[in-house]
Amino acid sequence: KPSKSGNFLEQIIEKDLKEGVVQSVQTRFPPEPNGYLHIGHATSICLNFGLAEQFNGQCNLRFDDTNPEKEEQVYVDAIQEDVRWLGFKWSGEVRYASSYFDQFYQWALYLIKEGKAYVDHQDAESMAKNRGDFNTPGVETECRKRSVEENLAEFEKMRAGEYEEGQCSLRARIDLQHSNMNMRDPILYRIRKVPHHQTGDKWCIYPSYDFAHGQEDAIEGVTHSICTLEFQDHRPLYEWFIENLPVPSRPRQYEFARTNLNYTVTSKRKLKRLVDEGIVQSWDDPRMPTVSGMRRRGYTPASIRKFSEMVGVSRSDGIADVSMLEHAIRDDLNNNAARAMAVMNPLKVVITNLPEGEVQEMAAAAHPNKPELGERTLPFTRELYIDRSDFTEDTTLSRKKFKRLVSGEYVRLRSAYVIKSDEVIKDEQGKITEIHCSYVPDTVGENPPEGIRPRGVIHWVSATHGKQAEIRKYDRLFNHPAPDKGDEDFMTHVNPASLEVVTGWVEPSLVDAEPEQGFQFEREGYFVADRREHSATKPVFNMTIGLKDTWAN
Ligand code: ATP
Ligand code: MG
Ligand code: MG
Repeated sequence: KPSKSGNFLEQIIEKDLKEGVVQSVQTRFPPEPNGYLHIGHATSICLNFGLAEQFNGQCNLRFDDTNPEKEEQVYVDAIQEDVRWLGFKWSGEVRYASSYFDQFYQWALYLIKEGKAYVDHQDAESMAKNRGDFNTPGVETECRKRSVEENLAEFEKMRAGEYEEGQCSLRARIDLQHSNMNMRDPILYRIRKVPHHQTGDKWCIYPSYDFAHGQEDAIEGVTHSICTLEFQDHRPLYEWFIENLPVPSRPRQYEFARTNLNYTVTSKRKLKRLVDEGIVQSWDDPRMPTVSGMRRRGYTPASIRKFSEMVGVSRSDGIADVSMLEHAIRDDLNNNAARAMAVMNPLKVVITNLPEGEVQEMAAAAHPNKPELGERTLPFTRELYIDRSDFTEDTTLSRKKFKRLVSGEYVRLRSAYVIKSDEVIKDEQGKITEIHCSYVPDTVGENPPEGIRPRGVIHWVSATHGKQAEIRKYDRLFNHPAPDKGDEDFMTHVNPASLEVVTGWVEPSLVDAEPEQGFQFEREGYFVADRREHSATKPVFNMTIGLKDTWAN
């Protein structure tokens, strides 16, 4: 299929296929299972799986699990669930870097035998010092001169657990004068005496990312290994291993810019702090930019895929506007979500010309232009709720300024009658407790008679037939556009008021909402039935996003 947008990766792949450099496309998404996936990962998933889909290739899901101390099975499970939810299918079984540990070990022995690797007993500090820096060439130490036999014996001792963590490591023997620091004898294996979530206590030495990643790609026949820009300087090393090892295929590495969003942090380590320090309730708290948090917030897979398409693939770092992400979900829900009514800040309205106990059933379309979504029934009863902000006694406000209910005037109740405000009831403190109104007969779906001019249309819920619901409204988690880019700790920019829980009244049909079902609450915003806590007996809705689009494209 010819590419539509033709980003640089699509162009490379098209060319490789055309020129027969590769027969088919194999990509991979390689998360480390040390946290939950976030929106940045989601764009990488869309990119890797998307390219495979576009070019009839395959994409693997591979856990890059070479750091056992930070990794856990719960993350392994959550990551698979997220990728599936986003709508992607990996090729075959899930892969684990750890299942290649035997092979990596054999390749380490191979490099030693070729004279291209040695066991170094320097501690971290002297190793760093002897490696030099941009202005200083590295210095060769005694370990580097060891014989193959001595290195084989020392490496065997490392593997057998005879040395402690930090006592020694296996390094490639490349070039201590290289202008690229990554090429100055990088570490291949380090000692870590921790059990691994997949391999148990089989190993006490673990390969470095650099020694593992390209070889994982080669084993899996990955053709285009796409990673983020910070690995650009590692590419010569990636290629050095592919050149110097008897690997079964020759993958190539390409880099693209990380997705960064303003008002957001996208780093598993920082997101973990928000959870550990109780700023949010969990990794899937709806305020979190994690895939599971966004899911609970009411984002749809389609909206995340759309956002990923909108940010595109760039070769230089930038910061995307979070309003672009919000636009993607708002647009999706505007087109697809059923409409419903919910009153967040209830004020009682008594329809004095409707007898108590009488219920008139109003039919309302679930969506203005999706008849297939059907209709719902709104019981119109003597006692109703409207939102407190939809009423005023101030009769001086112009019709243009206040398109709601004013003392002595008319307003239309959405999908029901035009009503008139006749009398305001207050308590001893002067707070309005009720408004007594009368409905104008024959105005359902009909214009009122001459001389009656409703100021606007407001939403409402029957006070006797509606249901109470817990409604969670969210604001940004950070009140700074670049929370982790300044000198201060990013935690100082946490918005202390990112969650507001209110008890609202919702129309009776919402009791039947399925967890994760999204709605537009008319005039309020988009809401979703909470995936974990919503039920018919205790309705819970999370605010996804407001109605007003702030994205300027
Ligand atoms: P973090 O700092 O959040 O832990 P990471 O890069 O260490 O990020 P990995 O688990 O190694 O996380 O990432 C898996 C894949 O997702 C990698 O290929 C990585 O390049 C990609 N990725 C991670 N963060 C982003 C991002 N913000 N934008 C695009 N791709 C990303
Ligand atoms: Mg990583
Ligand atoms: Mg990381």
